[in-house]
Amino acid sequence: MSDCLFCKIIAGEIPSSKVYEDDLCYAFYDIAPQAPTHFLVVPKQHIQSVSAVTEETAPIVGHIFAVIARLAEELGFAGPGYRVVSNIGEAGQQTVPHLHFHVLAGRDMTWPPG
Ligand code: AMP
Ligand code: ZN
Repeated sequence: MSDCLFCKIIAGEIPSSKVYEDDLCYAFYDIAPQAPTHFLVVPKQHIQSVSAVTEETAPIVGHIFAVIARLAEELGFAGPGYRVVSNIGEAGQQTVPHLHFHVLAGRDMTWPPG
C-alpha cells in the first residue's frame, strides 16, 4: 500500500534498523523502544491487523511466530522470557495500520498491560 509507513519501511523508502528479513517478513527495531530490546515483525504483504488475517494469510502469521522464536534464541532472550504484542484498532491503541508484532525483552514485564 503506497501510503503505508511500514510498507515504505519494507520497500526501503524509509530507513529502519533491520533485525531480520526473508521472503515473507521483515523485522526492525522500534523507533521508541519500550524495553531494552524492542523490535517489530511485519508481514511483507500489507495486512491491516490481526482482524484482517484470513485462512489464506494465516500461514504468514505462523511463519512470523517461528521467526520470533528463532530470533529469541539467537538474540539470547528466549531463556529469561519476553512478550509478543499486537495492538488492534483504536481501542487496542494500534497507530500503524499494517499488521505488526511487537517483541519486547530485556526486562520483567508487568500484567495487566496498560
Ligand atoms: P502500534 O502502536 O502497535 O501500532 O505500534 C506502532 C509502533 O511503530 C510504535 O511502537 C512506534 O514506536 C513504531 N514506529 C513508528 N514509526 C516507526 C519507524 N519509522 N521506525 C520504527 N518504528 C516505528
Ligand atoms: Zn502496509
